[in-house]
Formats: sequence, structure tokens, C-alpha cells
Amino acid sequence: MLTTAEALQAVLAAIEPFGSEVVSASQATGRVLHQIVRAERDQPPFDRVMMDGIAFAWSDYETGQRVFPVQGMQTAGDAPLTLENGHCIEIMTGAVLPENSNCIVPVERITIADGNAQIESDYAVKKDRFIHPRGSDYATGAHLLTVGKRISSLDIAIVASCGETEVAVASDPIIRVISTGNELVAAGDPIEPHQIRMSNGPAVVSLLAQHGYRRSEHDHVVDDVETLKKRLAKHLEEAEVLILSGGVSMGKADYVPAVLAELGVEVVFHKISQRPGKPMWFGKGPQGQIVFALPGNPVSALVCCRQYVISALAKASGVVASPPEFAALSTNISFKPDLTCFQPVKLLSNAAGQTLAVPVKTNTSGDFAALSSTDGYVELPRDQSEFLSGSPVFLHRWIAH
Ligand code: AMP
Ligand code: MG
Repeated sequence: MLTTAEALQAVLAAIEPFGSEVVSASQATGRVLHQIVRAERDQPPFDRVMMDGIAFAWSDYETGQRVFPVQGMQTAGDAPLTLENGHCIEIMTGAVLPENSNCIVPVERITIADGNAQIESDYAVKKDRFIHPRGSDYATGAHLLTVGKRISSLDIAIVASCGETEVAVASDPIIRVISTGNELVAAGDPIEPHQIRMSNGPAVVSLLAQHGYRRSEHDHVVDDVETLKKRLAKHLEEAEVLILSGGVSMGKADYVPAVLAELGVEVVFHKISQRPGKPMWFGKGPQGQIVFALPGNPVSALVCCRQYVISALAKASGVVASPPEFAALSTNISFKPDLTCFQPVKLLSNAAGQTLAVPVKTNTSGDFAALSSTDGYVELPRDQSEFLSGSPVFLHRWIAH
């Protein structure tokens, strides 16, 4: 049986990089950038006024002048006026600094009467104060976003400020999420007492969407060899990535591995020395399709989806990997089995600035309701069984960076 590290390695090695596509900037959030985004102009693009007030020349102020005839007004968006000797111009925040001016006094420190602005007698004027100089944030052509960055809403501000309406991103693979199980009934359909609401499929589709993968469709297939064969063959024909749930354990209705093998999907591994999620199956189809078969138990399915599926998709999208993240356990944990434990946790911080991982108990690996309060899970290594409060452990957030 593979270790968690070996399984992750095998998954990352099996998946080929996705290509690139150009999308509208309004659709780019969550996608992985495949181009450099460069500054269109200096930022700010002109010497920018940072206060409402007046602008005048230091050379006039130096001679002792404290009352300035108001020559005009300049607000944000106006083309710059040229200041005349001995005058001032009323300026508003965001305006271009008028030509020939280099001093600003805020409106609170002046009085204006009869077309003249008078500076408060005890106000100490400083040359160049309240001026945000042109190019002081960055210069034209600066690399503001680089290849491999997952685009956040903050990045969208940069894309827009660079004048880009479109960006090149990793192409969005066609994904099929397939829930297997006779007992499963979709929300909205009538349900009998002996049946189970299908939750894995919608949750997996949602986790994918939160990571920017939006071309996934969900299907439900019953535990019947012929039906499975027919439907999986179709999905293999139409999609690049298949994510199944259920049917990979040792039960008599667990047909998934055998059916996938019959369809020419070569097994890369079956089972990982971990809990939850030990029965996970992974293989590669005849046309290079990537097939993840997650255990049906909801906690197992979600942990395996985040740990292996999202990591593989991120690698194929060209995401620049972030450094590993750690958290300190908030309590002692004992985990005896010779397996890696993926323990769901809620994150808190303490007064020392540490991130604390608070274990959230799931009754069984079917207790997905308990996951709602969690931020991710910690990885407790296989070769250890006692984990002390305060010890650092690897943290995996549900939503990867
Ligand atoms: P299996 O791996 O098919 O043996 O399923 C293990 C457990 O997970 C069973 O109790 C199933 O009812 C449950 N299960 C399987 N698939 C789903 C699903 N899509 N949504 C919710 N529960 C599921
Ligand atoms: Mg099943």
C-alpha cells in the first residue's frame, strides 16, 4: 500500500500540463494565470494630489507669501492647469498636480474669501507633502502578476488597472464527477427511508468551482456492471478528468475498479495508508484521461478530493506551489493505527500569533456535517501515534492558495 507522499507523487507524475486559453477578465477569478501582466503606465501616472486644498509654489511661500489669489480649480479627471506666479489653484484629491506647483495645504488649514486663500498662521507648510509622485508605486512595464498565480479578486484590480480586458489562463479541463451507489437520491427527488441523499457529487463540483474549475458536470450511476460500463465509457470519451465516488471498497457491489480496468483504464494505485480515504483508487485511461475513484464516505471523499484531485489539477494548471503550511495542535491527539491521519480542524490564533489547529471530531467518515465548521485538515504522520499539544503539523486548507 502506498504512503500518502507516494500517492501524491504518483498523481502529480501522471497528470499532463493543461494548455492555455484566453478568457475575459470578468471570468478570470480563480483561474491560473498563463501570462505576465505588465504595468500599462507608471503608477500613479502623474504627480497625484492626495488632499483637498490648494496648490502653489514653494518659491512664493519662501518669500513670506501667505495669501494667494485663487487662479482656478482642478478636480480629479481634469487636465492639469499651469500655475501663474504668486497664485494658487484649488485642488481636489486625485487631481493632477498643477504645472509649476509643489506645495499643498489641506482645505482645513486655509480660509478663502474674496477670491484669496489664506494659510493658517501656525501651519508649517512642507514642500512636496501630500503629493504621490508619478511612478512611485511602479513604473511602466513592471511585472505585476506572473505566470502560475491563481487570480484573486485583488489581482483583478491589477488586471483592470493595466488596461487588460482579457487574460491567458490555464485551460479549464472537462471534468465528470460521477457518484456511484444504488442508495443515492439527488436533492429534489422523492426519497425513501432506506435511501441516502447524494452529497458527494455536488460538494466535489463545488470544491472544483472554488478552485476555478468550472467545466465539471455531475452524473449518478447505479451499482450495476453493465450500466457502469456504458456510462463510464461515455464519460471517458467526453472528458479529460473523471472523479468517481463510491464503489472502490471491498463490498460485493464495489464494481468500479473492475469496470475501469475493463475499459482500459490502467490502475496506478489502489489504497493509500491513510484514514480517512484508505480505499482510494487512481488510474490513467487509454487516451491519457485521469481517473480518480474516491471512497464513497463523504469525509473520505472530500479529504481525498482536496488532497489528491485539487493538488493534481493545480499542478497541471501550472500553479506555482506555495511553501507548506504549519499549525500548532491545540490539544493532545492519540492516533494508533499504522496510517497517516488526516484530521479535520478548525483554525484559531493565540496571543503569541500562532495558528492553532483545533481538531473537530467526525463521528465516522460519513459525518460530513461536522466538516462545515472546519477550515481544513492536518496531516499526522504514520510513524507516530502520540501528538502533543503545541506540536507543529502540516496544515491543508480546504481551499488551496
Ligand atoms: P461506498 O464507498 O460506495 O461503499 O460508500 C460508502 C458510504 O458512503 C455509504 O454509506 C454510502 O451510502 C455513502 N456514500 C457513497 N456515495 C455517496 C454520495 N455521493 N453522497 C453521500 N454519501 C455517499
Ligand atoms: Mg457504494
